[in-house]
Amino acid sequence: MQVFRSALLRFAEDGQAVYDEDGLLAVAPDAQGRQRVVAAGPWQALAAQWAGQGAVTHWPGRILAPGFVDLHVHFPQTDVIGSPADGLLPWLENYTFPHESRFCAPEYADGVAAFFVDELLRNGVTTALAFATSHPTSVNALFGEAQRRCLRLVTGKVLQDRHSPDGVRDQTEQSLIDTEALIQRWHGVDRLGYAITPRFAPTSTPEQLRGAGELAARYGDVWIQSHVAENLDEIRWARELFPRSRSYLAVYDDFGLMRERAVYAHCIHFDDADHALMRERRTAAAISPTSNLFLGSGFFDYAGADRAGFRYGLASDVGGGTSFSPFHTMLAAYYVGRTAVEGLQTKPGLSLSPAQLWWQHTAGAAQAMGLAGVVGNLQPGCEADFLVLNPQATPLLARKTQQAQSLDELLFALIVLGDDRVIEQTVISQAKYAPSA
Ligand SMILES: [Zn+2]
Repeated sequence: MQVFRSALLRFAEDGQAVYDEDGLLAVAPDAQGRQRVVAAGPWQALAAQWAGQGAVTHWPGRILAPGFVDLHVHFPQTDVIGSPADGLLPWLENYTFPHESRFCAPEYADGVAAFFVDELLRNGVTTALAFATSHPTSVNALFGEAQRRCLRLVTGKVLQDRHSPDGVRDQTEQSLIDTEALIQRWHGVDRLGYAITPRFAPTSTPEQLRGAGELAARYGDVWIQSHVAENLDEIRWARELFPRSRSYLAVYDDFGLMRERAVYAHCIHFDDADHALMRERRTAAAISPTSNLFLGSGFFDYAGADRAGFRYGLASDVGGGTSFSPFHTMLAAYYVGRTAVEGLQTKPGLSLSPAQLWWQHTAGAAQAMGLAGVVGNLQPGCEADFLVLNPQATPLLARKTQQAQSLDELLFALIVLGDDRVIEQTVISQAKYAPSA
C-alpha cells in the first residue's frame, strides 16, 4: 500500500468537485497488480485508519488530481498539428491524408506511437480514445506502445473505402476482416480496448457502414468512434450521399452505429431530433474546442446538450486541435461556451464553471466512454491514474494561485495559465512516468 498526503481533487457521483486542502490518497494493487484507490479524502478523517498502513509520501504545495481523459485524438496526426488550411475538407486533402499514408510502414508507425504516448503522459493524459489510420500496422504500433507503458488506451483501424486518395483508402471486405482480427487480438488485453472507427460517413460506402454496424452488434463491449456534424460543407455532402437518412447523425443510427460506448466527435450542427437521438442511444459527444476554433467549424451547444441530457466530454482532436494540453482544451471550451450564436445554429452564451470544465476532461469524459468509476476520478475502486500538479509552475501561476479564495478561482487560474509545466508527475496505475526521468 502507498499513502500520499497532499491537496486532493476528485469528483462526487453527481459531478461536483471535492477538494481537500490537506488530503489523503491510499492506493494498493489488486489481483492483477493494478494499483487502485482504496481511500481518498481529508487527511484528518482518514489518517488514523490508513496512514499507518504504508509509507507516506508527502507532497506539500502540490495537488493530486485524476489523470485526464482525452475523448478524441488522432495519433497519426501528431505531425499535422498546426498546418494551415482553408477549413476541414481542404485540410484533410492537403495535409492529413498524405501524412496518414505513411503509416503503412511499421517502423514509421512505431516511431510516431512512442512520441505520441510520451506527449500524452507529459500532458497528464492517462486515458485516450484515439484514431489510428486505415492501416492495421498503425493500430498494432499504438496498442503495442500503450501496452508497454501500461496506458489505458482505446483505438481502432480507420474505415474509409471511398472518397479517399490512394494510400489511405481501404477495401470494403478486407477492412472488415482486418477490423475483426484486430478486435480479437487487442480488445480487453491489459488496459487496451478496440474502437470500430469509420472515419466519417462520407468516406465509407453503405456496405462498409453496414459491416461496421454488424461488428458493433456482435462485439457489444467494443467502442465505436467517428465524426459527425462538424462543418456545414461536410453536412451537405453527407446528406447528398445518404438522402434516405433523416439527418447526418441518423446515418450512423441507420447502420447500427449508435449505442453505449459510441463516441462521436464534434456534434456541433444538430437539431432537436439529433439531440434526442443522442440521449436515446446513450451515445456520447467528444467536444473538440481547439479544433473547432482552429478550423472555424462552429461551437458546441452546451445548453442544448444539457436540455436533451446526453453525455459529453472534452477532447484535443490533435491534429485539427492545436494542443495536447488539457488546460488549453478546457480554456477553449470556456470560449466556446461564452460564444453566443444567432442563426442556423443558435446557441446562448454561458459561463461554464471551472470545476465543470475539469469534470468534462476527467470523470465526465470517463462516464461518456462508459468507464465511470474506472478512470477519470480518485474514488475508492478507481484505477490509480493520477497527476501531481504544481500550481507554482510559472511565476504568474504562483502569484495567481496564491491569491485564489475559492476552488473555482484556483482551478480557473490553472485552466487559463496552465500547460504541460503544471504536470509535475503522471502516475499510471501500473507504472510511474515522470517527465524528468
Ligand atoms: Zn477528429
